[in-house]
Amino acid sequence: MLLVYSDDFLKHSFINHPESPGRLSSIKSLLDKKKGIRYIVPKPATENDLIKVHTQELIEDLKMRSKKHLGDSDNPFVSSTFEIAKLSAGAAIEAAKHSESKCFSLARPPGHHAGRNFFSGFCYLNNIAIGVSSVLKKYGRAMIVDFDVHLGQGTLDIFAGSDAVFYLSFHQNAETIYPWHEPVVREKNICLFALNPGIGDSDYLRIFEKCFKQAVSDFKPDLIACSAGFDAYYQDYYYVGSALSIREEETFKRIGEIIASADKPGFAVLEGGYNLERLGFLVYNFLRGWQK
Ligand SMILES: [Zn+2]
Repeated sequence: MLLVYSDDFLKHSFINHPESPGRLSSIKSLLDKKKGIRYIVPKPATENDLIKVHTQELIEDLKMRSKKHLGDSDNPFVSSTFEIAKLSAGAAIEAAKHSESKCFSLARPPGHHAGRNFFSGFCYLNNIAIGVSSVLKKYGRAMIVDFDVHLGQGTLDIFAGSDAVFYLSFHQNAETIYPWHEPVVREKNICLFALNPGIGDSDYLRIFEKCFKQAVSDFKPDLIACSAGFDAYYQDYYYVGSALSIREEETFKRIGEIIASADKPGFAVLEGGYNLERLGFLVYNFLRGWQK
């Protein structure tokens, strides 16, 4: 298994925040007990990388806020925030570079709530969008499959109307959870599955498999990138209020297997997932299904 990781991701830290360094430490300590895992150390994304998906205005705003520690409870800022967000984006670029080997970016802060000109929901820069953009010339058509419990309204904002990128999201109906708005979509390259609270493992997997396979057959991607969030797990209710009823850790292995069944190069980035006791197992299960 091939992952991108740096201890520097632990520097972005705030008291009593669910998006904590402990998330990565818990995953890493579980993976350290497994054999056959190789890590690549990332470099920060450059401003040239960022400007492919974000505005100069957002980049300057993030810099200024880091300098002045100017944030709120969802998006706090310390001096290193912008640097670590760039490193997290750089990790996605590195993972994308190794798409033939199915590389996973074990990085934070996450990214799918950051849009072209906004940051939100624990996210500052859109890692998956930056990673995909870095390899679009090589792969031509990319699909992003997002199975975080929250709608990635940032990724949607960046790619709506694109001919080259298809965004497929399976999330809890966003009228019932952050970002509190389920958009009406008209663009052909966007497909959103707003799942009702309470849906269980077998129904979730049935919908996921059917719709994923249909989307792959319709769009015919050359690359499949994953926004891999693990907060659809039922115990994440206590951290971010997720109300799907995904109770089996094996469900994430099955999600990995379904994505792998398309037999395309790809990479994945960590989005949400906040239960520190089980998060490592959920990620490892996904990797077992996806990377084999
Ligand atoms: Zn999430």
